Amino acid sequence: MVCCINCFNDTEIRAAIEMIGHRGNCPVCKKTNTWIYDSVEDADKTNVEEMLDSILELYVPESELSKMYPEEEKALIEDRLLKDWSIFSGSAFEVRQIVSERVTDSLDLDSRIVIERVGIPQLFDEVYLRDNSIMGKYSWDVFKKYLRNENRFHSKYINLEMLESVLRETEIVISMATKFYRARVSDKKGYSRKQMWAPPDDVASPGRANSKGQSCLYLCSHKKTTVKEIRAHAFDYVTIATFKLNRDIRVLDLSSIVHSSPFYSGKDKVAYLLNESSLRQIQNDLAKPMSRWDSDLDYLPTQYISDFAKFLGYDGVKYISTFDNTSYNIALFVSSACDCIYHRNFLIGDLEYKMTAI
Ligand SMILES: [Zn+2]
Repeated sequence: MVCCINCFNDTEIRAAIEMIGHRGNCPVCKKTNTWIYDSVEDADKTNVEEMLDSILELYVPESELSKMYPEEEKALIEDRLLKDWSIFSGSAFEVRQIVSERVTDSLDLDSRIVIERVGIPQLFDEVYLRDNSIMGKYSWDVFKKYLRNENRFHSKYINLEMLESVLRETEIVISMATKFYRARVSDKKGYSRKQMWAPPDDVASPGRANSKGQSCLYLCSHKKTTVKEIRAHAFDYVTIATFKLNRDIRVLDLSSIVHSSPFYSGKDKVAYLLNESSLRQIQNDLAKPMSRWDSDLDYLPTQYISDFAKFLGYDGVKYISTFDNTSYNIALFVSSACDCIYHRNFLIGDLEYKMTAI
């Protein structure tokens, strides 16, 4: 088998091919003078085949799948691979070429996976799903609906043990003395420093990371972004306060719960496949812009996740700003971890409006 770095999207496989240091022409995607992998010359120098095999061996030929396996989920291996993962960058035809050659070379892979349609049995195995999927046999959307319309506090739609282990991987420490900003639309006189803190518990309104009645201090890494976050209009007065952490804080970085490659660890690849799609939906919900007409109920799913972070003992959660993906926000559960060191009133000048036709 000969293929090249351009045949793959996956960062780990691309890095592994580049590391070999072998340049040549790719018979699959036809790129010339590029980093290539040649199984005859390079197999001992890299784990490219090991990575590919760890994915290919998940697929089972149709003749071995249970009668209950959903018909619409069976497909040719190249179509399944392209749908399930973002490992390959080429067309189905190119993927088939790589996979067929790998199967021919391999002593362990079942050659029927390039002849018959294939599926992954665990994806429809209730016991497996219960033990390995954050959402069990349900989906994030089903869970959201249940949370919104049926039961806020108790649910069988989410596997908290799994959620905990996935979220704990995103733990980061933000160092003492890091500065953050918070803005509030004010009048000409502006707010006092005391008024720049989060409102007290009972009057706290609901937000992305807190329920009504639970105080939470929303801070932003950049001054200008915090003004956008509060949707200030031109010629509004705003008070901007600077907060400084008076200790290190432990937070869950919810902006990085999605991984870029199934090979980032030796973990179960089917569990990765299942959970990654739920995590992507959670991450999208966290970054979703809310308009003033959205209901407070739209915050429920993300409140659920940040409530869980609080329950696990974290000081807050970090997520990317909806208004600027180079800035991030912190919802700080324990406001005593920072001091307000400065505040000042500003008049907003021109705003740049970006419009998208709908
Ligand atoms: Zn190529």
